[in-house]
Parts: sequence; structure tokens; C-alpha cells
Amino acid sequence: MKKKRIYCSFCGAPITTRFIDEKYRDHCDNCNTTFYENPLPVASCIVINKNREVLLVLRKNEPYKDMWCLPIGFAESGESIEQAALRELKEEAGVNGEIVRIIDVDTVSNYFYGDLAIITFEVIQLSETCKPGDDAADAKFFPMDNYPQLAWESNEKALNKFIDLYKDIWTMIDSLKIIQPDIITHHDIPKEKSKQYTLISNIIAFMIDDEIELFTKQWKSEMPHFNDNIFHFLLSIHQMSLHTIKLWLTGNRIWKNFREFYIMGTYLKKENISLKDILSAIALSRKCIWIQAIEKNILHSPLEVYTMLEINNRIILFYDKITYFLIKGYEHL
Ligand SMILES: [Zn+2]
Repeated sequence: MKKKRIYCSFCGAPITTRFIDEKYRDHCDNCNTTFYENPLPVASCIVINKNREVLLVLRKNEPYKDMWCLPIGFAESGESIEQAALRELKEEAGVNGEIVRIIDVDTVSNYFYGDLAIITFEVIQLSETCKPGDDAADAKFFPMDNYPQLAWESNEKALNKFIDLYKDIWTMIDSLKIIQPDIITHHDIPKEKSKQYTLISNIIAFMIDDEIELFTKQWKSEMPHFNDNIFHFLLSIHQMSLHTIKLWLTGNRIWKNFREFYIMGTYLKKENISLKDILSAIALSRKCIWIQAIEKNILHSPLEVYTMLEINNRIILFYDKITYFLIKGYEHL
């Protein structure tokens, strides 16, 4: 633990303890000096990579040997706290960085070091690679939702603040990626269902999947009465639309599915079903998605409302496309 003061550093006399300014403090009765304890400044860095993984270093020495933590170390005289953060990052992880902002300031009472003021910065990685320095046994990136237990509780606190700060922005970026199917790759879609639920487009897709009966019931209740044959065809348009938009919203490529709408268009013409009724069936199908989305109350934050506007455009585009293919098929015959 932290070394105890035994002799006065000014006159060499033994130290006693006295109650001064509301606290017990080390005191030299010989030269009447009171020793005030100040927290030591410690700098720490949060660096993330393109996959939103966080850089951790494995401690080589005591205390907390063999535990992971953010790059961290004491500030030295003659350097700013920012310089200390970047120096520690370079020394422990071999990474050149640039300070973005302060994420957290934490004062802690540590068994080994006494009182500390830990300042954690967000830092951008400038160098491509990282490799452990002399103080570290290893340095590597970990997923933000699955990293090992950290040596410093303050590191966890700062990381949680960092995630809180960025989570809306990340959701926004992810939603836009989903909205732009051309840039989406299979790799970009989170594997875990819990994460997929953070994307509004996926919430709607899963809602369609879970409640397909409800969507159909609603569609049926608003559709005017037709003879069974016509009704069957119009219902098929609605069901094909739901099935296809579900695939589209979750990032699947569905160009071949549009071909089915073209073929359906040719059948509708053969059956002499009017264009007016076809367009009503499509419009009602789209309306059902929004009615259910509103009834399920899936919009909880301004961000979700914003995202919903983006997805609204996408759903309109989808229904425009299937209308185009249906009519094309219809007119082909
Ligand atoms: Zn003294």
C-alpha cells in the first residue's frame, strides 16, 4: 500500500498525527509543518477503432498485474495532463494519438497510491497499428460490450460515460447504413438480436414478422368487399409486400423479389382486376405498417422519430417500386 511518512522531510524529526482543518494530518511538531495530502493527477485514454472496439492494455507489473485497463499513468512535472495521456498511450500501446475531449474526471482513494484524480480523454488513433510497450504485456482492441474486467473502476465509469455520449450517434449511423442498402454488407448487421432491436428499421421488420396476422386483419377490415377470387389476389399483394419489405428493411438484397411483383401483375391483368383496386390494396398495405408502428409505440426518443422519418422515405420508395413492377407486369399482357 501507499508508503507512510515517518520523518519530516524538512527537519528529519519524527512525524505525529494532529487534527487540523477538520482532518487528521501528518504534522511535524519540531518545525511546525503540516503535511496536506493532494491527489496525484493520472491521465487515461479511450481509443476506439473503426469497428468500435476499445483499446486496452494488459498490465505487466503490480499493482493489478495481469489485469486489463485503459492506457493510464501518472502525469509528470513539466508536462500537461493531455501530454501525459498521449505519452502513456505511446508508452503502453505504441499508439500515436490526438486528444478529442475530456470524457471523465474521477477522484478516487486508492490502496496502493493514495488519493488520485483520474482524467480520462477520448483520443483518436493516428498510427495504424498498436503494439505493447515495456510496461504492458499486451495491447489490443476489445468489443465495447464484451471486454474483460478492468483494473480500475474509474476506467469502467469513463467507458460507460463514453458509450452514453456516443450511443445515439452510433444508432443514427447504423440506421443510415440500413437506409442505404447499397453500402450495407452482411458484416454490418449486428449478429445479436438484442442489438438489432436498436435499429428502428429492424424493429419494424421484426414487428411485421411477429404480428403478420394483425397486419392482415387490419388490411382485411379496411378493404372494401370483393368477390372471393379478387379478394384473394389483392390479399396476396399485401402479403407479398409485407414479406418483401421485411427482407428489405433488414438489409437483404431483393432485386429478384421485384420480379415476383411483375409476374403478379400479369396474373392480375388475366383475372381482369382493375388497376384502381390494385392500387388501393397497395396503399392500404403501406398504411397498415404505420398504424401498427404507431400503436406499438415504438418511437421513444427524438432520435427514433428522426430515424423514422428516414425509414418512412424508404418505405414509400419500396411501395413505389412494387407498384411500378405490378403495373409493368399488368400492362405487359
Ligand atoms: Zn520538521
